[in-house]
Order: sequence, then structure tokens, then C-alpha cells
Amino acid sequence: MADKIKTSQNKNLKNRFRFVILNDETFEEKFALTLTRTNVWLFFSITAFTLVFFTASAIIYTPLKYFIPGFGDYNYRSQMLQLEFKTDSLRREMQGREVWLQNVMDIAAGRVDTSKPLKTNTSPTDKSDIKLSDLSNEEQELRQQVEDEDNFSLSAGAKKDDGTVDQVKQMHPMKPVEGSVTEEYNAKGEHFGIDVAAKADEPVKAMLDGKVISAAFTLETGYVITIQHATDLVSVYKHNSRLFKRTGDAVKAGEVIAIVGSTGELSSGPHLHFEIWYAGQSLNPRDYIVF
Ligand SMILES: [Zn+2]
Repeated sequence: MADKIKTSQNKNLKNRFRFVILNDETFEEKFALTLTRTNVWLFFSITAFTLVFFTASAIIYTPLKYFIPGFGDYNYRSQMLQLEFKTDSLRREMQGREVWLQNVMDIAAGRVDTSKPLKTNTSPTDKSDIKLSDLSNEEQELRQQVEDEDNFSLSAGAKKDDGTVDQVKQMHPMKPVEGSVTEEYNAKGEHFGIDVAAKADEPVKAMLDGKVISAAFTLETGYVITIQHATDLVSVYKHNSRLFKRTGDAVKAGEVIAIVGSTGELSSGPHLHFEIWYAGQSLNPRDYIVF
């Protein structure tokens, strides 16, 4: 069976055909060509190969390739770059001349203050063109605000003053001692509190809840007790004859913390020197407590 197919294929390949062109009227044979399948196959193969070969050669070795889209020549590209550089240089040169000409025209017309330097062909990044004074009002306000906030925080108490008055008043601080004020608050005179003259052995009370942060004897001001209250508020009680609290003790508003005395070199008679501090700023106790 397989042999049969093979022999028929061989036969087909070896069959010879005749390609004839006849005169239609006389049937005279004008052209005749003997063909086999092998011949025909060879003929088309060679033709196709030749066609491809010549087309490729034409594209590779002739300027025809420049008509192919996307094909660029290296030399052309470098030439284009050089041209671009030249154009740019020329443009700058032109601008410079324009400025020069403008200067000359200004001088000729007498429009120039000759004491000032003339305009130059400056680059856009020249810093002299930026005017720092041309700030919007909002910008200036913001800068001022930031500068103020940058100041050391001790001044913060003074600025918050109005708010502070309300805030401390709302806490309803108590009168620390019964008596009459003999010396007023005077921050400029470095008297950061008030002096309240009282009877001897009068109890001294904490003005608000808080914690004792200092309870000690000093040579100048005798027995001094200092209490830290909520929200940066501190009260100081000086010249006591004795103290009932120690550093770290918690105290309630109105709780007796000391006894009025006349201790310390700066005291002349029984009285309480009483100070209130808020965020590092001394306050006038009269603003918050009625004596
Ligand atoms: Zn005093």
C-alpha cells in the first residue's frame, strides 16, 4: 500500500507536461515548453528568491530606505541637533542686541538715570528681579504671627491675659487669709504679689486645689509654700510662722496650709506675701480675689 502511494507520487513528479501556445485560427504551434512539476517548483522558487534579494538590496543600499516611516539617519539627527544649538545661540544673541538697542534708544531719548546701572540681558533666575517687599498683607500678617509665636514662651502669659482673667476667675479662687492689703502688686517694682496684713496666728489657706511643689525656709522670705494648681497656675505664700504641708502633698481649696508670721529679713510685722503665677507670668491677685 505504502509502496503504491510512493510510486504514484514519483510518477506525478516525473510526469511531463507540455505548455503550448497555438494560433486560434490555424492551430499553428507558436510556442511550446515542456514542463515537469520539479521544473515549475524550481522556477517559482528562484523567482521568489531573486525578488526578495533585489528588494532587500534596494532598501539597504539605496536612499530608498529614507522613505520608510520611522527610519532616521544618524548624520541627519546630529545635523539637526547642531542646527538647534545654533538657533538657540542666535536667539540669545538677538535678545542681547534687543536690550542693547533699547538702552541706546533710552539714552538717546534721555529717559535713563545714568547713575544707575543699565539693564542687562539677564537670565530669568536673576534674584534682583524678586522683590521681597512685594508681599501680600496676608503673607505679612502670617509672618508676624509666626515670629511672635517663636518668642520664648514666657511672654505667652501676657498675651493670653484677657483669656487668663476669665479662666482663673471661673475657678473661683479663695481668699488665702483675712486681713487688709498693705502693699499692692507691682511687677515693674519687682513686687510680684500683694502683702496682706493679718492678725498673728491667722491661718493661711490654699486658694485652689493643687499640689505643694515647694515648702521650705528661706532667709529673706521665711517659711514659703508654693502650690501648683491646674492649668499652669501657681500660688506662692511667704513669711509664714510655720507650715503644715510638705513638698508633694495634695491640698484642697480652703485647706489650712500655714500660719501667718513675720519670718524672713524682708518682713516687718505679721503679714502674708501672696503671689499668683500663670504660665510663667505673674498676675495681680486683686484681679481674681476680693480682699
Ligand atoms: Zn510682699
